[in-house]
Amino acid sequence: MIERRHLKLTASRACGRRPVYIPPATEDQFSTEQVDYYAVERAITGETPRPELTRDELREAALWLRRHGMERAVVSVHLSVYERLVKEWEADAGMLGPDQLCTVDGCRKARSGRGLCTVHLTADRQWRKAVAGLGMAA
Ligand SMILES: [Zn+2]
Repeated sequence: MIERRHLKLTASRACGRRPVYIPPATEDQFSTEQVDYYAVERAITGETPRPELTRDELREAALWLRRHGMERAVVSVHLSVYERLVKEWEADAGMLGPDQLCTVDGCRKARSGRGLCTVHLTADRQWRKAVAGLGMAA
């Protein structure tokens, strides 16, 4: 176990370079058919000129960076997208643990507040408001 880990570290150090973005090779690996993978690659490397990215391209870049260990807050700044959106993409891609997902049964969205996703949190707030309204009317 230790030996294996050591080998892995040595190998990555021997390479001495950052992970390289490799676009999917076959069509079934594409998250959508509308993704310009050259644009995604440029967004990841930070090369200029930076093209305007579609939402699918931003998601592709964000998930790749997250999979390669970049902090969510850094990804958010790097790609100019909300941190919460990056987290939602991670939830959709099955990259979040159960402790980071909404606690409502069957909901697989990212947790936002009070153990709920934004959809269920909003519903919960509206429900509480409506109940409070009933209380005042009575
Ligand atoms: Zn939910």
